Amino acid sequence: MKEFENDLICENLSVNSEGHLCFAGLDTGALAAKFGTPLYLMDEDRVRANCRAYQTAAKAAFGKNYRILYASKAASFKALYRIMREEGMGIDVVSQGEIFTAKAAGFPMEKAFFHSNNKTDADIAAAMDAGVGYFVSDNLEELAALEKEAQKRGVCQNVILRLTPGIDPHTYEAVATGKVDSKFGFAIETGLADDAVAFALQLPHIKLCGFHSHVGSQVFDSDVFLRAADVMLAFIAHAKQKYGFVASILNLGGGIGVPYVAQNPKPDLAKIISEIGARIDSRCKELAIAKPEICFEPGRSIVADAGLTLYTVGSVKTIPGYRTYVSVDGGMTDNIRYALYGSSYTILPALKMGEERGLTVDIAGRCCESGDMLQRKVPLPRSIARGDLLACLTTGAYHYSMASNYNRIPRPPVVMIRAGKAELAVRRETVEDLAALDI
Ligand SMILES: *Cc1c(COP(=O)(O)O)cnc(C)c1O
Repeated sequence: MKEFENDLICENLSVNSEGHLCFAGLDTGALAAKFGTPLYLMDEDRVRANCRAYQTAAKAAFGKNYRILYASKAASFKALYRIMREEGMGIDVVSQGEIFTAKAAGFPMEKAFFHSNNKTDADIAAAMDAGVGYFVSDNLEELAALEKEAQKRGVCQNVILRLTPGIDPHTYEAVATGKVDSKFGFAIETGLADDAVAFALQLPHIKLCGFHSHVGSQVFDSDVFLRAADVMLAFIAHAKQKYGFVASILNLGGGIGVPYVAQNPKPDLAKIISEIGARIDSRCKELAIAKPEICFEPGRSIVADAGLTLYTVGSVKTIPGYRTYVSVDGGMTDNIRYALYGSSYTILPALKMGEERGLTVDIAGRCCESGDMLQRKVPLPRSIARGDLLACLTTGAYHYSMASNYNRIPRPPVVMIRAGKAELAVRRETVEDLAALDI
């Protein structure tokens, strides 16, 4: 078996006759030579295919009564919003920055849902100015602020309430958001969700449309969604009975996982969504409630496997008796996920794919911080040296969007590849850009 075969975890990866890793059909060596490193690559065809996979699965499960919203915090720049518009997707936004970018890209903002557990008065006004379709309300103070702003404008604002269904998805604490003890949303168990419904229903400039829950990240099967759907539908039935309120939207959030390494499972999206669809059908019948429009808001599973990061090796340092550090020209500034969560990644020697990988190394970033590592125990060829190229796979989600300028390091560009053509979607930040805000 070839050295690399196991590690080509997405169909858009291959190896050419020169032993170079190819991404979306293009030689990563040629891309690095043309655009420089560190470099974010994004496979546009893959993004579109992921959107379509959701829509096909949702159509089969829900007929016409569904909506797929791209959770744009996973990666937010104009080219992606244009793709979402063309693919007929809705979007989630969480800040004025995302709203501004989406609108500037020509995204139809009535298909945007505005999240965030602290929308300032300025955020609320800007979102209403931009014509954001729905606010996902997180707390009572926000409902009051929404009412005030909508009243001032003489409009009636669509709102759904973010509820916490009290489900621990058994993932990392830092990404488990659906439990009762959460900074997000109104807990059902404690009665806060009830208070929120009662409050929202008596606000004349708020049109309550339904409910939202988001249980976590890196979920690989339907189980946690089925439990969330049960709790949410029971609450919808309760709200109908107690307040006569008929929910027209149930948003079940995002969170479907992707494999980062060959050992990770690959979720079966069609199966997960069809199981959720079947459960919703049967529960709605049992509870005698009308089936609401079902929304999903995936982020990671739309863009993660469409991304790849290229780095150039700067040094190979062996500490005898301990380990070998391979330092690259990026790090926690373009990938904070290893430092934050210890996330696993597949890192490959992009120009030496045919070589035996006989050396085990830790990959270090370039920042002045010992925690700035990209991965530990990575197998690389013994010949790895300054000037070699490394490819980190599955970096389309929460990389560019979480990038920082720590150490005054400019952020890498994003290059989109479509039908064998590579084009800049975000240019490389310059040191002048970094100093541009300084007075
Ligand atoms: C982060 C988040 C998402 C997207 O999660 P993924 O794991 O990227 O699919 C969706 N909805 C809400 C409310 C979120 O906070």
